Amino acid sequence: MCGICGCGEDHHGHSHDHDHHQREPAHAHAPGLSKTRMLRVEQDIMAANQRHADENRAVFARRGILALNLVSSPGSGKTSLLVRTLEALKAELPVAVIEGDQQTGLDAARIEATGVPAHQINTGKGCHLDAHGIGHALEHLPDLQGGILFIENVGNLVCPAGFDLGEAHKVVVLSTTEGEDKPLKYPDMFHAADLMLLNKADLLPHVDFAVDKAQEHARRVHPGIKSILLSARTGEGFDTWLAWLRAAAALARIAA
Ligand code: MG
Repeated sequence: MCGICGCGEDHHGHSHDHDHHQREPAHAHAPGLSKTRMLRVEQDIMAANQRHADENRAVFARRGILALNLVSSPGSGKTSLLVRTLEALKAELPVAVIEGDQQTGLDAARIEATGVPAHQINTGKGCHLDAHGIGHALEHLPDLQGGILFIENVGNLVCPAGFDLGEAHKVVVLSTTEGEDKPLKYPDMFHAADLMLLNKADLLPHVDFAVDKAQEHARRVHPGIKSILLSARTGEGFDTWLAWLRAAAALARIAA
């Protein structure tokens, strides 16, 4: 276990071909490493991530790109939500997706089926994307000048909270099939997110999920958080979500 996000991941292990440290044992278990040394290694990793995140943010700012980091538990419907979002926006402005999963290219394939460019990052044992990987993924995507880059992070409400990718906003997706107490259980993530999408609104008649409670819990850990109730399946709430996206993208263009 690394201690940075408590996930058991080896944070040395990027999924880059040139990274010789890939699949190294987690350094917290590395024999001969003192606690002080481990702490130092972790601080170095976080500092390096922040440098890469700052570089990514500068690239996005220069090109007027709105970059969003979508985070959630596994199964909240991020990819379905993205597919519907891209169908609505792809004729209007440049859009692309970076997909993060531990294994498979399944989600990137679902995105590419819409005709929108996607690049898949497989994190292997890693439980979140890092800023260095995002910088390299950009090399595989077309120029998005004035458009939107969606980054679908690995499904995990813990680790991605601590890793800045250079995004303008983290957007947390919580579905109605989950508990409305998740914002209280995973406060770091809901604190880090500027927007909460309550997905699977179409299932509300069939589940015990109190929308007002979920919103209240999210506001308790992040008073400024916005929330939108929507359904990637029926399209309910998408007008509000698309309006939020258009406004945020316009801001990114104006600032460039
Ligand atoms: Mg997905």
